[in-house]
Amino acid sequence: SIVVGILALQGAFVEHEAALRRLNLSKRLDIVLVRTPEELGRCHALVIPGGESTTIALLARLSGLLEPLRKFVVEKPVWGTCAGAILLAQTVENTKKGGQEVLGGMSISIARNGWGSQVSYYTYYILPDTYGSATQVESFEADLTVTGLTDPEIPFQGVFIRAPVVVELKPTPTDPPIQVVASLSPSLLPPALASPDHSNEPKIFVALRQGNHFLTTFHPELTQDDRFHDYFIRECVISQVANGNASPQS
Ligand code: GLN
Repeated sequence: SIVVGILALQGAFVEHEAALRRLNLSKRLDIVLVRTPEELGRCHALVIPGGESTTIALLARLSGLLEPLRKFVVEKPVWGTCAGAILLAQTVENTKKGGQEVLGGMSISIARNGWGSQVSYYTYYILPDTYGSATQVESFEADLTVTGLTDPEIPFQGVFIRAPVVVELKPTPTDPPIQVVASLSPSLLPPALASPDHSNEPKIFVALRQGNHFLTTFHPELTQDDRFHDYFIRECVISQVANGNASPQS
């Protein structure tokens, strides 16, 4: 069977475990909570949950997992949600003093707390006119456009909790291409974040895939809709492991 690990140092790992177990009725997965290098060593793929990215990185270092995780990311399928997405980015903006250790794996730049609480990336860069006057909304729910999923006509309830914002896609010509699996239309943002005229606002990418790496800036594990879990297992894990090719470059 395929062993799927969930990094269980901090954050919403229990909810990911429940979602993967629901999915498991049809797919033979062995689900492992990962807290040690030995547990990581058993895994064919890994989910990094949401939580607090600096805390997860610190606990990974203390557990001797940071370097094994960096090696894992180069070789195997990994999905990061929210804080996990921050860890998968190449570069992180809006970090506190001391910065943010990352694992890398996806050729993107991401801003922590992109919707508020420190500097709101979104209000600062995209809606500069409203910066300072708009209420800082750090957490919200919004329907997502899920072009890359099964039943794309059914929107997905996106739960954003002090979520990061993808700032830039920067794959080099030799990197696998980046696919947009879900995006957030500015017109569906909560009023405090929306501008009166959406015409010149770019779509906000909230689920991206690159090779066998996958990120969501929101929390699919906090809903009962398991389409993102199904997507990761089907597209990034089973097809890659079955081909005997778990390299992110494939
Ligand atoms: N704001 C958190 C961070 O920077 C992420 C929040 C989350 O995972 N829900 O790590």
